[in-house]
Amino acid sequence: MTNEVGPGGPALPDRARVVIVGGGVTGCSIAYHLAHLGWTDVVLLEQHRLTAGTTWHAAGLITSAGMTDETLLFFSRYSRDLYARLEQETGHSTGFRPVGHISVATTAARQAALRREAAWMHGFGVEDTEISPGELARMWPLARTDDVLSAFYVADEGRADPVGVATSLAKGARQLGVAVIEGVRATGVATHGRRVRAVLTDQGTIETEVVVNAAGMWARQFGALAGVSVPLQAAEHYYLLTDTVPGMDPDLPVIEDPDNYGYYRPEGDGMLVGLFEPVGAPWSLDGVPPGFAFGKLPPDWERMTPYLGPAMDRIPSLAEIGVRTFFCGPESFTSDVRPLLGPAPELDGYFVAAGLNSLGILSGGGVGNVVAQWIVDGVPPVDATGIAIDRTASYETSRRFRAERTVEQLGVLFGDAVWPD
Ligand SMILES: Cc1cc2nc3c(=O)[nH]c(=O)nc-3n(C[C@H](O)[C@H](O)[C@H](O)COP(=O)(O)OP(=O)(O)OC[C@H]3O[C@@H](n4cnc5c(N)ncnc54)[C@H](O)[C@@H]3O)c2cc1C
Repeated sequence: MTNEVGPGGPALPDRARVVIVGGGVTGCSIAYHLAHLGWTDVVLLEQHRLTAGTTWHAAGLITSAGMTDETLLFFSRYSRDLYARLEQETGHSTGFRPVGHISVATTAARQAALRREAAWMHGFGVEDTEISPGELARMWPLARTDDVLSAFYVADEGRADPVGVATSLAKGARQLGVAVIEGVRATGVATHGRRVRAVLTDQGTIETEVVVNAAGMWARQFGALAGVSVPLQAAEHYYLLTDTVPGMDPDLPVIEDPDNYGYYRPEGDGMLVGLFEPVGAPWSLDGVPPGFAFGKLPPDWERMTPYLGPAMDRIPSLAEIGVRTFFCGPESFTSDVRPLLGPAPELDGYFVAAGLNSLGILSGGGVGNVVAQWIVDGVPPVDATGIAIDRTASYETSRRFRAERTVEQLGVLFGDAVWPD
C-alpha cells in the first residue's frame, strides 16, 4: 500500500527500512552510501526541492585546510575523491575542479600553525606544500603579497558545484533503488516506548525502524518534535560577487586568508570574496520558518563594513571593481564547530546528521559514508569522539546559549580554531 503524493515523483510508501528527512548534500549523501551498502529500502523526504535549504548557495570550496584530526580529514579527503569520480557513475557532474587551494600566513604564529598542519597532513598523504610569497604572486598575480610570510598549497583540491554534488549523489541513490521524494514535509516521529516506529508527514505515515534527521538548520526544531536535542543555530553567512575583473583566469586556485577572515576564488569573469567575520550574527533564534526555500537574507552592510576592508585588501584591484551581489544566507553552527552525527541518546532508531558549520559540501561525502556505516553496523567506522551528538549537553539548545555562543563561531571556525584555548 502507498500514500498518495503529487504527480510525477515516486509514491510515498507506507513502510521503509530507513527514512531520511532532508534533501541537502547531507541527506543525499547518506542515501547514496546506504544504497551502496545494500540498504535500498530507503526513502528520502525533502519538504521543497533538493538543495533548497543551505546547499544551493554554498561557495563550493573543497579543501582539507584546518582538518587536523583523522575523522575530519577523512570527511574532506574522501569527499574530494568521491566528487572527482562520481560523474562516471551517475552521469551527473559535481563540477569538481582541482584548481588548487592556498592558505596564506601573514603572522609568525599563523605560519607556525600552518607548518604544523602541513606536517600532520603529510603523514596522511596530503601534499600540503609551503610556498614563498614570490611563488604565491606567480600563481595569483592579483593578490597582495608584501605582507605574506609564506603560503601553503594543496594542488589536488579546489572547488565544486554544491547543487551538482547533491544532485549527483541523489541520482546515484535513485539508480540503486532509493525513493527520493520532494514536496513532502516530515511533521513528527511516532514512537513505541523508546523506539522509533514511524515518520509522520503532511501526506501520510511511513512505518520505519530508522529515521535520519538531516534537516540542516531545521534539525533542532525537527528533533524537538521527538524530544531529541539537536543543539545548532543558524547564523548569517556572507560572500560577495564582483563585477568583471580584468585578466581574471577562471582556473586560479582558491585562496584563504585566515588572518583577515576572507577567502577568494574566481567566479565567472569576476571574483567571489567570502567572509567569516570574527563577530557573527545568529539568525532566527526562535526557529527557521518551514516555508524558507532557496532563501536569502537581507545583508547587514553596517555590521559587515569593518570586516570587508581587510578582506578586500588581499586583492587590491577590488577597490576599483564594483560589487555585483552582496549575498547573505543562513548556515548552521554548533557549540564546538563540529558536526552533530550519529544515534540520538534519547530515542533508539533516531540518527542525526546536521550542524555542518559551513563545511557541509567539502565534508558531505565523508559524512554520508560514516553515517551510513554507523546505521548499518551499529558502530561508527571512525573515531567518533568529536562528532557524535551524544557529546553535547542539553543546555546547548537553550535560546540564551545559542544567542551568545553563535556570535563567536564563524571566526573560531575559520581563523581562530588553530589557537588552543
Ligand atoms: C554563504 C555560504 C557559503 C558556504 N560555502 C561553503 C563552502 O564553500 N564549502 C562547504 O563545504 N560548505 C559551504 N557552506 C556550507 C554548506 O552550504 C552547508 O554546510 C551544507 O549545505 C549543509 O547541508 P545539509 O544537507 O546539512 O543542509 P541543507 O542543505 O539545509 O538541507 C536540509 C534540507 O532539509 C529540508 N527539510 C528541513 N526540514 C524538513 C522536514 N521537516 N521535512 C522534509 N524536509 C525538511 C530542507 O528543506 C533542506 O533542503 C556555505 C554556506 C553558506 C551559507
